[in-house]
Amino acid sequence: MPETFKHTFDTPVFKGDVAVPLGLYIDGKWVDGANKTTIDVINPTNGKTFTKISEGTPKDVDIAVAAAQKAFETVWGLNTTGNDRSRLMHKLADLMEVNEDKLAALEALDNGKTFVWAKRADIAHSITCLRYYAGWADKILGQVIETSEAKLTYTRHEPVGVVGQIIPWNFPLQMMAWKIGPALATGCAIVMKPSEFTPLTALFMTELIHEAGFPPGVFNLVNGYGSVVGQAIAEHPHIEKVAFTGSTLVGRKIMEAASKSNLKKVTLELGGKSPTIVFDDADVDQAVKWAAFGIYFNHGQCCCAGSRIFVHEKIYDEFLQRFTEHTKTLKVGDPFDPENFQGPQISQLQYDRIMGYIDSGKEQGATLHHGGNRVGNEGFFITPTIFTDTKPNMKIVQEEIFGPVCVVIKFKDDDDIVAQANDSIYGLAAAVFSQNITRALSTAHKLKAGTVWVNTYNMLYPNVPFGGYKQSGIGRELGEYALSNYTATKAVQVNLHIKM
Ligand code: NAP
Ligand code: MG
Repeated sequence: MPETFKHTFDTPVFKGDVAVPLGLYIDGKWVDGANKTTIDVINPTNGKTFTKISEGTPKDVDIAVAAAQKAFETVWGLNTTGNDRSRLMHKLADLMEVNEDKLAALEALDNGKTFVWAKRADIAHSITCLRYYAGWADKILGQVIETSEAKLTYTRHEPVGVVGQIIPWNFPLQMMAWKIGPALATGCAIVMKPSEFTPLTALFMTELIHEAGFPPGVFNLVNGYGSVVGQAIAEHPHIEKVAFTGSTLVGRKIMEAASKSNLKKVTLELGGKSPTIVFDDADVDQAVKWAAFGIYFNHGQCCCAGSRIFVHEKIYDEFLQRFTEHTKTLKVGDPFDPENFQGPQISQLQYDRIMGYIDSGKEQGATLHHGGNRVGNEGFFITPTIFTDTKPNMKIVQEEIFGPVCVVIKFKDDDDIVAQANDSIYGLAAAVFSQNITRALSTAHKLKAGTVWVNTYNMLYPNVPFGGYKQSGIGRELGEYALSNYTATKAVQVNLHIKM
């Protein structure tokens, strides 16, 4: 039997006990992985292992897929009504509400994001997301299509079957909610792999799924390494659709595995190098605050992070000075201290990657304007960092850093800025700051990005689609758009009175 992680939090923001099962969850039961091996779970504030989860294997993925198939064909999918699924999903959201502090504390411990932001953003948004999709469960409608008076023709949006979902470590619970929401609403059965860097909220959430009363096999969770369990999901012949959030490199592997196996449907939510454009008629005070939130929120570990900040030459000096002052006020440290805005990066690997980018910026001749240092003697803390005097081909201008590092670039005219902003292999998000509505919107329409924020940043709503142009991904999550990822359209043609 898998062990349970028991922990007493005694922090300024949360005091209480939590218990998290550490196994795999297959067919409604907690089990060990087939090889009985474990994976260390590390606290990013000190780099130390604080618990171990069961490690899944491809054999466990097979068992989980079989359980999901059985559930789909007997007690889920077309055997349920939308209303049944909606009630279960609302029950789950109720349980999340009751446990919101525990979820936020686990996210802070495991991921390093601050408790305050975890509760306000990750947990709150995950609950709203589940309620939003619970509302869709009984509104998955086909069409009646007029073809001829002699016929009745209609479409059905049927659940695709068993789906695989591979979740990253930057928003562990939120990415889980974005993925299970539309899958459960449409009636798909799920095999999920959380990131081994941040498995705790997914494991706790799985216990809530169990408590909510979802039939065994509807939701299965297999911990493990991406190259093993993730790969087994991506190439499984009985998984009909795979959803992945993570790096572009791994996104390619997922597509390749899908194409070499059963041509399963693929949705990918990948990297970004999003531009923030500040025109000379912007409200500078607001632009500074939103741009800082755009890059530094979640320690820069956001796929939509606004890591390239373009500022009109007329206000460049003023903006840079105020942006730097604001950056200095963002406190870095213990995620359980309510004064702190930023905690540690997720891992030694990510810490080293980010520091490597900071070194490359210096080596390639950019000016390290602010930050660039480690904070403290242990853990993976990095100061919010600003580079200036960059050239378009520098690595820090082109590549996703996935840390609290931005470049601030001066621009001259409106036409040139669109070309510069679009000079990226990515196209996830962008932001425009201007008080002139024509200028703001005509720029927004020319940007090659799945989301464009005007005079704001990082605002996400469960009913607004999110996803990428270019190499930032395939398909859209959230909103009504995400439902079609999980359904297949069937056209039924009924002959009323045409004789052969
Ligand atoms: P990653 O390698 O893309 O991993 C994301 C998830 O995919 C993890 O669960 C990973 O497991 C799994 N995975 C890895 N190889 C796989 C394979 N062959 N088949 C199926 N799944 C596989 O991301 P990372 O290494 O954690 O971070 C690297 C970079 O990815 C970051 O610097 C950032 O640029 C980007 N990233 C983007 C997002 C986003 O929101 N778009 C999120 C996270 C990371 P393992 O951890 O075991 O490899
Ligand atoms: Mg990884």
